[in-house]
Amino acid sequence: QFTGTLDINRKDEIGQLAQSFQRMTEKLSENDRIRKEFISDVSHDFQSPLLNIKGYADLLMNKELSEEKRQNYAKVIQSETERLSLLTKQLLLLTSLDQLESPLQPKRFSLNQQISDIIRKYRWLLEEKQMSLTMELDEVDFTGDPAFLEKVWENLLSNALKYTQKDGEIDIRLRDYPNHIEVKVKDSGIGIAEEHVNRLFDRFYRVDTSRTQEIEGTGLGLAIVRQVVQLHDGDVKVVSKAGEGTTFTVILPKL
Ligand code: ADP
Repeated sequence: QFTGTLDINRKDEIGQLAQSFQRMTEKLSENDRIRKEFISDVSHDFQSPLLNIKGYADLLMNKELSEEKRQNYAKVIQSETERLSLLTKQLLLLTSLDQLESPLQPKRFSLNQQISDIIRKYRWLLEEKQMSLTMELDEVDFTGDPAFLEKVWENLLSNALKYTQKDGEIDIRLRDYPNHIEVKVKDSGIGIAEEHVNRLFDRFYRVDTSRTQEIEGTGLGLAIVRQVVQLHDGDVKVVSKAGEGTTFTVILPKL
């Protein structure tokens, strides 16, 4: 019969067992902390657009409002609703990636085709911002989850567009190697200061500077990128210099 506490300093099997219980407990409370933090971030991110929508809807009730004000208030409601809709979509995507069993449904598909389709989708924004885009895409038939991977390229490209000023440049490359593929998304944008680089892929993390505050975002895009890439046993890296630009590199092994 065993009585008393498990001594984690014991050198025998019981000591090892006690140590592994200790690690499990630590991991569980760390998960609990992350979950609580996540819920509080989510609530906060829903709360502020909801407050704005309520506030501007109340203002719209005023019958004597000028046409210009009415238009402006309606625009705020519209953009805050879009923000909530994006937030919900991204959160649903992240939760679907969090499942214990792999959510991936791998298929063989043309990666170069997928990337050029996404670029085509953003052409209007490139033109609007008078930005130039260069690309070099090797032909690659890749096996992976096309729906999730599409989000990776889309998030990286939309960030490159968002965080690059008018007249800037974007360069996209897809390279085929014997055992892996590499995608690079490079921009000549505002860049990211060294101290933020480690936290960029955390959920809800956004660099808080006067320049980035004006740019819409949820802080979930790169968290999705990292999770999808990790589920494919790949890796994503960033090299950036504040004021000069950023390059994200995704490496995915071939199955
Ligand atoms: P967001 O919705 O805020 O864009 P992301 O998770 O996609 O969220 O990115 C997190 C943060 O990383 C952004 O808020 C921004 O500060 C920074 N960032 C991401 N991509 C770039 C980029 N290409 N250039 C400069 N900063 C970037």
